[in-house]
Amino acid sequence: MRRRFYIQTMGCQMNVHDSEFLSQCLIQGGYVPAERPEDADVVLANTCVVRAKPEQKAYSFLGRASALKAPDPSKFIGIVGCLAQMKGELLLKRFPLLDLIMGPRELSRFPEVVKQMDRPHGKTVATRLELAPPCHAPDHTCFHNKATGYISVMEGCNNFCTYCIVPYVRGREISRDPDQIMAEAIRLIALGIKEITLLGQNVNSYVWEAPGRQRLSFSGLLQQVSQLKGLLRLRFVTSHPKDLSDELISCFAAIENLCPHIHLPFQAGSNRILRLMGRGYTREDYLHLVQKLRKVRPDIAITSDVMVGFPGETDQDFQDTLDLIRQVRFDSLFSFKYSDRKGTAADQMGNKIDELTKGSRLHALQDLQKRITLEKNKELEGRKTVVLVEGKSKRGNQSTGRTASHKVVNFPGISWEIGALVKVLIEKGFLNSLQGKPIGSLSPVKENLRSIEMK
Ligand code: SF4
Repeated sequence: MRRRFYIQTMGCQMNVHDSEFLSQCLIQGGYVPAERPEDADVVLANTCVVRAKPEQKAYSFLGRASALKAPDPSKFIGIVGCLAQMKGELLLKRFPLLDLIMGPRELSRFPEVVKQMDRPHGKTVATRLELAPPCHAPDHTCFHNKATGYISVMEGCNNFCTYCIVPYVRGREISRDPDQIMAEAIRLIALGIKEITLLGQNVNSYVWEAPGRQRLSFSGLLQQVSQLKGLLRLRFVTSHPKDLSDELISCFAAIENLCPHIHLPFQAGSNRILRLMGRGYTREDYLHLVQKLRKVRPDIAITSDVMVGFPGETDQDFQDTLDLIRQVRFDSLFSFKYSDRKGTAADQMGNKIDELTKGSRLHALQDLQKRITLEKNKELEGRKTVVLVEGKSKRGNQSTGRTASHKVVNFPGISWEIGALVKVLIEKGFLNSLQGKPIGSLSPVKENLRSIEMK
């Protein structure tokens, strides 16, 4: 019987992307996916430590994986991702049965580890941070019958926002060779992928410089990738406001298949808190960026990240955050409570906010955003749009996909091909999705994309 693997993926899109690479390596190594860790010979946790909660989740999963290995030493259990990087060998004290501890920058060694998994082997602890991210060579094993794919174009972060652990666990910024990125994009398109998202912790600080090679900015990279034949939609995530140049903003008008959606974390609405966070912009700067984006692309959807309860946050600071949310009217927000991360500057700050206050602020903020999101989705009722089919909806007899502005749309019919473009009339706007009626299909050429987007 073929050996099976199970990967528990926690955290951001970068981790989801890394888990695709790990799956592909294991499948190429002769393994097949298992539904549950209990049924697997290889159990991996791809972890996140951006806040206390995901870190605790990782520990409890490692406890479960260790309990599975105790009675059956032939099992292989491992941890990758940011907790592996943050704790390294120390994890063996708490989880002595671990076979693998591998940081995000060491993943290019994973194919070698796969070869050892089914025979006697020592423990592998690999947590160097200066290495280049692995080069994915996507193949049909992980990209069969899919409409969307991700390409990591840069790794790491140099910003050291005072609350953030990412620069310590993902390393310094490193931009990938555009030739590698183009090769990966061409492979994805050949595998039937219609929409590509360029990934990076700070994707808009991408810059490629190499002796004898022309310098390439992120806008330049977008231009290059967007011209690939067969690529219907192009997206990128996550951007930092301080690196959102006018050149990049103008891409939303100039590039036909660049989707009208940007994820632009603002984190707080108070200038005092933004300074303490070390974000490098003011609320006025942020509001001005939003104005410029909407001038260039009036139908652009803007989503963001926000934090409440940063050390020293006063009621007035919090009101400034709510006020910014009312002014921008985001399409949706990821909102979190601040939590101490060991080793960060904010961890050493005084005036920590109590959990109760953090909880009530988060609640009030989420209530406000839910009202805005629902109002904006209801404003789309009666509009026509184009949906890229991603598969069957969880709602029976329906298909699902996204608009170019990244909204989820469910609509009747399950015979729509994955990757097809369907014209849909929006009938109902809900908090997290739109309900529509298919009114025709479109031939998958990029020119068609803007012709009826949200009319
Ligand atoms: S920009 Fe700031 S919040 Fe984002 S990954 Fe870098 S340090 Fe963290």
